[in-house]
Amino acid sequence: MAEETIFSKIISQEIDTPLLYQDELVTAFRDIFPKANSHILIVPNKLIPTANDIEQDDELTIGRMFTVAKKLAKQEGIAEDGYRLIMNCNQHGGQEVYHIHLHLVGGQPLGKMLSI
Ligand code: AMP
Repeated sequence: MAEETIFSKIISQEIDTPLLYQDELVTAFRDIFPKANSHILIVPNKLIPTANDIEQDDELTIGRMFTVAKKLAKQEGIAEDGYRLIMNCNQHGGQEVYHIHLHLVGGQPLGKMLSI
């Protein structure tokens, strides 16, 4: 059984982080340390630790993460100029919280895809 992270407490609202969106599959809230003018995290309600742990049964949830990202980008007013969706995986991917999440970042030009 994977270990719960801070994101489970946000999803359950045990920690009262303001939510931008929540339904039966996913939850979205602002990143606590935004890396761009707009930085939102879209998280499955179910604990999936890394992209390596995504199963076929999760396809609806993973799809929902993207349709919610699209809605929130529009709501943030960044859809037309553009944005980036990122999911980090494990150490080389720079993952810090082991509960998968889609970063929706935008609100400014984001430069190159990778800075190594
Ligand atoms: P990653 O490196 O892809 O695992 O990203 C984890 C992200 O979670 C980072 O951008 C953190 O700033 C963000 N984060 C960590 N704790 C919180 C929190 N309590 N509320 C909102 N965002 C958080």
